[in-house]
Amino acid sequence: MTAANTTQRLADYEKHYRELAAQLATIGLIHSGSVTRRYTRCATPGCKCHADPPQPHGPYYQWTAKINGKTVTRRLNETEAELYQEWIANDRRLRQLIQQMRQVAAKAAELKLKQAASQ
Ligand SMILES: [Zn+2]
Repeated sequence: MTAANTTQRLADYEKHYRELAAQLATIGLIHSGSVTRRYTRCATPGCKCHADPPQPHGPYYQWTAKINGKTVTRRLNETEAELYQEWIANDRRLRQLIQQMRQVAAKAAELKLKQAASQ
């Protein structure tokens, strides 16, 4: 590989890296954990949740996260659940971007080290 080739590849990696970093800035609020939607059956005989076909109660939304090794849960209404789901999706996107940045940075670093060694 020629030196000019290496310089061009480095420039490409750095450009890609900057683009990913710029995307980070567009991410909205982030939140940890996950949201689950559940339907339940009660203990009341003759309730619709025991009918045939059953019509279970719900949906009930719950947010769950591990904080300092402890599982924390919170009941949510539908509006809250939608917000949490959006923030959690943002959090996932953030982690994906950082992962991509790490990959591009690793390739760029390798080229930079080669460049430094040949000087
Ligand atoms: Zn019921």
